Amino acid sequence: MAASDSVPDELLRTQKAFLEAIGRYEAVSVYRHAGTLTSVANVSLQAWLVWWAVRHWSNPLWEVVAVLAAIVVADFVNGVVHLVMDHATGYRSAIGPFVANFHLHHRIPVYRRRNLFVVYFRESGSKFWLVAYLAAVAWFLPTLLAASPASAHFFVLVGVLSSWAEVSHYMCHTTHYRFQPWLEKIGLGLSKTHHAHHHAEDNVDYAFLNGWTDPALNAIAKLLADGYKNTTDLHDDLYEVRARS
Ligand SMILES: [Zn+2]
Ligand SMILES: [Zn+2]
Repeated sequence: MAASDSVPDELLRTQKAFLEAIGRYEAVSVYRHAGTLTSVANVSLQAWLVWWAVRHWSNPLWEVVAVLAAIVVADFVNGVVHLVMDHATGYRSAIGPFVANFHLHHRIPVYRRRNLFVVYFRESGSKFWLVAYLAAVAWFLPTLLAASPASAHFFVLVGVLSSWAEVSHYMCHTTHYRFQPWLEKIGLGLSKTHHAHHHAEDNVDYAFLNGWTDPALNAIAKLLADGYKNTTDLHDDLYEVRARS
């Protein structure tokens, strides 16, 4: 076979693997319910951590530093996860259906309109890594609170803002609330014009809490990643477009 023929063949095989993976996601209840279980784990761990963490406070200056640092770190960390996931393949693996479902956010960027609390809960269901993070914070919380309550508040807030980042992305694509520009100013909202670059261009602006750390993420992406327009975005071509669930 000629070398020029091997690329389309390989792409076709990957597209079929994507189709099979998204079919498994939609048909097999264990995949659909895993998201709900992850949401329950994330939201209950967050509630437990906040409940414990607010019993102790450092001086106001350190608390402000902790909040600002948490906003920046949550934007960056979730941007890195987004960058990694936008390049993930492995559709035939056990987690292949989740990877395939994640890629649909480029194909169907507008969400179905829902209450923001429902969005917070539902979108936390794709954040498997966050369960491990929150469990680790819960384990170390007594030590952190004893050392410096502000440091404990930083780690807890990074966890909470990681879920809020999903709401921020939802509002950016879907709603026009009057408070959105204000949320953007304080780092808890994502500008539509800023984030539009992620969808219109290639390999840029992965941050989705507020986009403040996109310069750093863009430098990392340029150095390490191939982009999605000519890779993973092509994998769902055989999938019939439907409204986002
Ligand atoms: Zn993306
Ligand atoms: Zn988006």
